[in-house]
Formats: sequence, C-alpha cells, structure tokens
Amino acid sequence: MEVPAYLAQRLEAQYGAQTAQRIVQGYGAQRAVTLRVNALKTDVQAVRAALDAQGIRTQTVPWYADALIVCGAREDALTRLDFYARGEIYLQSLSSMIPPLVLGAAPEDDVLDMAAAPGGKTTQIAALTGNRAMITACEMNSIRAERLRYNVERQGASRVTVMETDARRLDDLFRFDAILLDAPCSGSGTVQLAGARTRARFTKEILDKAAGRQEALLIKALTLLRPGRAMVYSTCSVLAQENEQVVSRALRRANAEIEPIDMTAFAGVPVLPVSLPGTLCVCPDERYEGFFVARIRRKKA
Ligand code: SAM
Repeated sequence: MEVPAYLAQRLEAQYGAQTAQRIVQGYGAQRAVTLRVNALKTDVQAVRAALDAQGIRTQTVPWYADALIVCGAREDALTRLDFYARGEIYLQSLSSMIPPLVLGAAPEDDVLDMAAAPGGKTTQIAALTGNRAMITACEMNSIRAERLRYNVERQGASRVTVMETDARRLDDLFRFDAILLDAPCSGSGTVQLAGARTRARFTKEILDKAAGRQEALLIKALTLLRPGRAMVYSTCSVLAQENEQVVSRALRRANAEIEPIDMTAFAGVPVLPVSLPGTLCVCPDERYEGFFVARIRRKKA
C-alpha cells in the first residue's frame, strides 16, 4: 500500500526511520475483524456459541471481556447474521474500544459524546453504564447523525439524546460529568481504510486545519466539563500534530492536567512512544488501528 508522501515524511520526522517503518507495515497488515458484544442485549458466551454454530471461531481480548477477535471470517459473514441485525454485536476496532474504557463514566453521570457518529463509542458507554448514564451524543453531519440514531436504536441505548449540531456551538452554560471527544482527524492511524482520493489529499494544509478544529473542540470540551471531573480526547491518528501538540496547547489555555492512563489495564496493546507522558498511542498492526488516547482532568477552580 502506498503511503502519502507527506505522511511518510511526518512519520519519519516524529518517530525515526525504524518505528516509521513499523507503522507503515502496520498499515499494510490484513486487519482481523473484531467486534464488541452488546452487554445491554446479550453476553459473550451466547455470542461465541452462536458464532461457533456458524463455524466462526473467535478469540477473547485480555483487557476487555466484551471484545472478540474473529478468526478467519470477514465482516460480511457477520453482517448477514440475525444477532447482528438485532444489535447484539457491534463491529468495532479494538483500538476504538479503548477511549470509553479510559473514560470510565459512572451510571449516575451526565455524559457528552462530542463527535459521536456512527455511534460505536456512544453505544459502548451506554453498555458500560448499564444504560443508566444520561448521554448526549453530538454530531454535526446530518447523514451521519441519521446513522447514529439508527445505531443507538438498534443497540438499545435508551438514554441517549442525539443533538445534530456543531459541538463548538454548544451553550457554555451546559456542564457534564464526563466527556468523550473522539475528534475528527486526518485518519493517519487508519490509512489503509481510506480510499486513494483521501490518501492523495493528505497534505500539510489538511493536517493544520484538522489540528485547529481539534483544539477548538478540546477547549470547548474543557469549558463544558464540570471542574474536578475528567474527559477523554482521542483520535485515529498517530501524528503528534493532532495528538500531543493539540492537548499540550489546550492544557496551557485551560486549567487542566493529564491524568495518566493505567497502561497495565491494556496489556498486550502495541504502543508507540509519546511525547506527553501518561497518554497512549496505539501502533497499527494486524489487530489494532493506530489510535491516540489522553485522559484530561479539569482542575477545581
Ligand atoms: N466517535 C465515533 C464512533 O466511535 O463511532 C466516531 C467519530 S468520527 C472520528 C468524528 C465525527 O465527528 C464525524 O462523524 C464528524 O462528522 C463529526 N464532527 C466533526 N466535526 C464536528 C463538530 N464540530 N461537531 C460535532 N461533530 C463533528
């Protein structure tokens, strides 16, 4: 697979030739299909048994009991199944299951998912809180918001309110106990998923624009977060311009600090070096997409 020239240059500048090569190899790997069992509707044993009956074997994931790796079957073998249609499983990359776990919202929390469609993480937060947390799921693109509503409904996430709006315009008077900002990004962690046209558009201008939008969204998130509470910032990018640099600038502007992620909770996840201690950057490989996760606490006034 051809890596856009500007991306290759950024990877080498940030990570050095050897690690950049590891990332590029990860882009080219045939990624395993992975899924999240929807604990609101079923359990892992039932899903494994049902898949087994279809001749589809699965493996468990050490850091998340609801995650399964599908062995030797592609997505369409799963999307044809009844329990997929019933929302008992959600096809989701392993990396993208990490941010809701790091957020760790409590059942009594008022949660904001700021960039929510198609809803993988919104519905995961609903499942993790047993459908008890109140979740506001914000999405500015109307077609994607429609998809989000559909997935929320199908997954039985009953306390989710979808707001079709630009999260930067949310009223500053709102306050939330927990916020997930899974920010729009260049997709530099998932380059293999992008089409040739998207890859051709991977330029410095696009990256600068993405970083500006991410910073504005993160500053907004920190305004809406109740003082003393924590949020998660994540992207499917492995570039510091969209990750550590955005977070560092926001921390300088807001009264907030990094809360180190407990890496022991994610044993086996392939990681990349980070320039902001306590954050997590996942290296793409045959099981994982490139991803960045930071947990940030807003200090009490
Ligand atoms: N969290 C989602 C999930 O797990 O399924 C994936 C989110 S995707 C990385 C980013 C989403 O943010 C896109 O659907 C995009 O349309 C939306 N978005 C971009 N800018 C936004 C903004 N300013 N306000 C709200 N949504 C935004």
